[in-house]
Amino acid sequence: MYDIIIIGAGPAGLTSALYALRANKNVLILEAKCYGGQIIDSSKIENYPGIELISGFEFATNLYNQVKKLGGNIIYEKVIHINEDKTVVTNKNEYKAKAIIIATGVQSRRLNVDNEQKFIGHGVSYCATCDGNFYKNKIVAVVGGGNTALEDAIYLSNIAKKIYVIHRRNIFSGDAKYIEELENKTNVDFIFNSNVVNLNGKDYLESIDIQHENKQIETINIDGLFIAIGKIPDNNMFENVVDLDEFGYIKTTDGLHTSTPGIYVAGDTKAKFLRQLTTAVSDGSLASTMAIKEMN
Ligand code: NAP
Repeated sequence: MYDIIIIGAGPAGLTSALYALRANKNVLILEAKCYGGQIIDSSKIENYPGIELISGFEFATNLYNQVKKLGGNIIYEKVIHINEDKTVVTNKNEYKAKAIIIATGVQSRRLNVDNEQKFIGHGVSYCATCDGNFYKNKIVAVVGGGNTALEDAIYLSNIAKKIYVIHRRNIFSGDAKYIEELENKTNVDFIFNSNVVNLNGKDYLESIDIQHENKQIETINIDGLFIAIGKIPDNNMFENVVDLDEFGYIKTTDGLHTSTPGIYVAGDTKAKFLRQLTTAVSDGSLASTMAIKEMN
């Protein structure tokens, strides 16, 4: 029996673990993939108070090492279910705890066009910092208009020969600073008011069809497509123990508690106003402190 099981080893989950371990609690962290969560995809973090500039990977690794030094136990198994008695069922085992913190973050939103699944790893990527290097001197496109898409395009502009940024609106929603940086790049073209409607190729992606505002379809030859159109939660496996909002995020009464006593939520997977690194670590520290307080 653990004091606290934390599901997810991103910034929210690892911060929960940090606080629980420092309170001398017996903690298990369950992670399906690798530590760090989506912050690993950010090449530069410039808005974390007290740290002027750090890469997402370095930040996550520092936090991971901090937790490991305190004896943090991370088991890499995928959680598939939680029971009301606080048994956590993974693809391999069952674990029981006095309290559970769900910190599973969010997943990349799909374009939902034909062949998207088929070309993942064969020309389609959701992570420029992970896969950008495969496209040295090649032609790539980035879809999306938020900060992730803009950051991805900046990152890729130093690797690829040509970058198209394709957005369905006529204006980006990301920061002006990134837009300006991209406008000054000679190898970046913006395509506004357009949607990617088809991915073409045999074994690898070879071209995409985009539909412009006037409904005309244009085919562009590219080697890689980076899809950066936001994130969505994946909380269906917890539906029996937590209430979800209309978008699938976990509802809380006060930012911490879910609808089942002893089950808390932290980070991007909960219904909240602002999804940032700062709010994720804040959630993690609060959820852990509350779990400890209420189990005593
Ligand atoms: P986002 O801000 O939600 O932007 C998603 C973009 O994808 C929007 O331009 C949206 O267009 C577009 N989109 C959504 N669904 C689409 C679809 N089916 N087809 C085509 N386009 C679609 O997501 P994000 O860029 O991943 O950023 C998430 C959060 O993280 C934001 O708060 C962002 O500021 C933050 N972030 C911060 C940094 C940083 O500070 N360095 C870096 C990355 C992210 P519409 O506007 O038309 O919906």
